[in-house]
Formats: sequence, structure tokens, C-alpha cells
Amino acid sequence: MTDKSYFPGHLRRLSGISLLVLLAACSQSEPPQEPEQPAAPAAELSDDAIDLIIEGDYVITMDDSGSVIQSGAVAIDDGLIIAIGPATEINSAYHANGHLEGSNRVVMPGLINGHSHAAMTLLRGVADDLDLMDWLQNYIFPAEVEFVDDEFVRIGTELACWEMIRGGTTTFVDMYYFPDMIAQVVEQCGLRAYISATVIDQRSPDAESAADSLVKGRSFIDNWKGRNSRITPIWGPHADYTLNAKQLSETRAAATAAGVPISIHMSESPFELEYSKNTYGMTTIELFESIGFLDGPTIGAHVVWPTENEIKILAERKVGVIHNPTSNMKIASGISPVTEMLNAGVRVGLGTDGAASNNDLDMWEEMRLASFLQKVSTMDPKALSASTVLRMATSGGAEAIGLRDKVGALEAGMRADVIQVAFDDVHFVPTYDVISHLVYVADEQDVASVTVDGRLLMRDGEFLTIDTERVKREATELAARIQAALAERNQ
Ligand SMILES: [Zn+2]
Repeated sequence: MTDKSYFPGHLRRLSGISLLVLLAACSQSEPPQEPEQPAAPAAELSDDAIDLIIEGDYVITMDDSGSVIQSGAVAIDDGLIIAIGPATEINSAYHANGHLEGSNRVVMPGLINGHSHAAMTLLRGVADDLDLMDWLQNYIFPAEVEFVDDEFVRIGTELACWEMIRGGTTTFVDMYYFPDMIAQVVEQCGLRAYISATVIDQRSPDAESAADSLVKGRSFIDNWKGRNSRITPIWGPHADYTLNAKQLSETRAAATAAGVPISIHMSESPFELEYSKNTYGMTTIELFESIGFLDGPTIGAHVVWPTENEIKILAERKVGVIHNPTSNMKIASGISPVTEMLNAGVRVGLGTDGAASNNDLDMWEEMRLASFLQKVSTMDPKALSASTVLRMATSGGAEAIGLRDKVGALEAGMRADVIQVAFDDVHFVPTYDVISHLVYVADEQDVASVTVDGRLLMRDGEFLTIDTERVKREATELAARIQAALAERNQ
């Protein structure tokens, strides 16, 4: 899992301290050589220095053994975590060009938002308190056809990236229109993303039909595959009620040919359940299994209504299920049997869904609500504990989307997607249990710093890759135009 070939060069920078802080992979590397160079002043850029050291009162690794390091630090160079351990040892082993202090800070892996429609931030609050199909067919789909273009997607995605960085999300799985524009924004803002080419068999903002969206999706995937290691173009067939079985199979074939995953809405609502039974004589996931749609990496968003047999299929097929508790509650889609799925060995991560059905992109809230929803639905306060739900938002989410070898945990050799949570605010006082506070107290305003691939995107609340004033101005202007047009239409 770790890139062992990476270690030798960095081990030369060690100053003879105990190597215990380094992970096991190091022991198989060539022995460290004693460095001759004197300690460089911290402020001076040095060729021998690594890029960044991030410290914290606690480092929550989310590795398989769940280790937590008190007064710890993470050493980062060339986009990778190269060592992790007690801060005193890391600081004497490495000189870094950048340094994030750890007082009142908790260090952990960045959060993984497994299902979003990022640009829908611009439709935040445009229509609330409606049934899913009424909301989709009478408000969202028509508003999208009327207003969503390249520019809408640029501004909406920038707004979403700003909010996700604010809240400590470092990876997201997106499904929306004009994916080339989404990818350009993500390239710029520095986040990591799976970006879907949406396939839907109706007139949409960027295509006329499923056939048209397949053609356009192919060109998007060709354009972005292998271009930026942070950006993975994938296929995003919308759902089994907006595509027929043949179109679903065609999309899977295209994904297999390109060697990329699929993200799809799956078993979300009672409407979908009825539609599938009436149209195919079986429920959604059984249909997918029967047509070979699950023959390849699949990320299924929602999965609120799986049957016992379908849960077995999800586990066997290693489908990554993304639970979206806020959206499921707000649209009254139902309560996903997350506890049952986890017990059956299904890989379950968390997502926000779009900001039109949430109405924010706060993964801390998703953690909290996921836990509470399982507790109240099973009438068992032990259901979905804080540590289980924190895993779903980090390493478990990474596994669900097929990125566990790169992100989701703080381990030497992993990509350096690391956040610091500030424990300064009154709601953290006192702190008996850090994991409990992360899940039951923290929210997106508490995140202090965000690093993706070793690059700082936010430092002490300051955004380093997004011009937030410009984005706010552009979003406000565009929303005013949408509001005026809606008012005119509804006269
Ligand atoms: Zn969705």
C-alpha cells in the first residue's frame, strides 16, 4: 500500500533519532545514512528541507489499528506523507520549509464526500420542503435546463470548493453537467475529485439524450484521464428511472473500456422502488446485478431501500455505498439501513448530496446525523458509534470509492491530504474524548488548515487557492438573475 521506493532519499535526512516513529515500511528500505548538514534555520528555504510539518495535540491517523498520537506531527514532502510520530521526534528528524503549529489543533485525514452535485450550491434554498419527484421534475430539472451553463457550473463549483475546503473535505465524488468545467475548477482550487460524465435520458443542460451524453462523456473522459493525478474522470449514469436497461449497460461498457468507475443514484426513494418493480419486475440493485451493471467499480449513492438479497449483492460486488443522511431526511427518502449494511460487510461512506437538498456541504453534520439516525431508527444508542462514523468519513469512505491506497488515513506513503481542526471554540471545552468531539461537536467552521497532495489550500482560515470575494460576488449576481427569472415565470 505504501510506496516503499520513496523512503530511502528521505531517510538520509534523519538526524540519528529513533526510527520508531516511521512506519514499518521503513525497515525494509536501505539503512539511513547519518546526515552531515547542520540544522538550517526554520525560516530559510533549504534544498534539504522537506516541504511541510503539521503538528497537533492529537494526530488521529485513522489507520487500520486506529492509532492516535498525542503531541504528534506529520512530515510531508513531494505531496506524500513521509513520516508520522511524536512531534519532538519528527522535528528533530526533519527540517521543513513550512510548519503548522499544533497547539489546540487536532490533525486528521481530510474528509471524503462520496456524493455531491457541487454546482448546485447556486440552487441552495431555491425550492425546499417538497417530495423528491416533485422537487426534481417540477423545480430542479426545469431550473437546470433554463439556467445551467458553463458559467453556472464554474461559479457553482468554485462556491462548493470554497465551502468544502472551509469544512475540511479534501476529496469529493461529483455528478453534474459540463464536467470539463468542473475539472478545470478542481484543478485550480487544489482539491481531489472523481468527476462524473453525467448520463441521463432527457434534455439536460449539456446534452439532448442519453446517446448524446454518452458521446460527450467519452470526450470528457479521454480529455481528463491521466491528466492530473488529483482528478479522476468517471461515468455518472443518473439512475435506473432516468435511463433504460440498455443505456445503463452501454454506460457500464464505456466505463469498462476506459477503466474508470461509475457513480450512480441507487435505491434512493419509494418512487424508485415502485418504478423498478413495475418496469423490470425487480428492485434497482437486483436489476443492476441481472444486467451485469455491477461488473466493475461502482459507487452507489443513497441506497435507502435495499432488500436483504440486495445487501448481499452490494457486499459481494464490493459496491461503495454512499450514505447521505441530511438529504434523505430533508426529502423524506427514508432511513438507510447503514448498520445492517456495515454488519453484512458492505463498504459504506458518507456524502452531502447537492446543496439544493441539504442545504450545505458540511461533512461534520453528515457524520453526526448518520449516527443519530441509526440510533433512533434502531432504538439503540450504541448504533453507529463516533469512531465508526468518523471512519466512514475518512478511511471507510476512501475504501468505498476505491482510493484507500492513496488517501483516507495518515500513514507514510499515502498522499498528504491532511487537515487541522481548531479546538479553540467554546463547544470543545472541556475535552474528555477527541473522537467524540470531532463527531458530536465539530462543524465546518472549526477547520483551521487544509492540505491536499502536500499543498496548503487553507491556512488558519485563509483561503490560498480561491478568490472568495470574487466567487461571492459572482454567485450573488447569478442568483439574483435566477431569482428574477423565477419570479417572472411564476407570475
Ligand atoms: Zn444525488
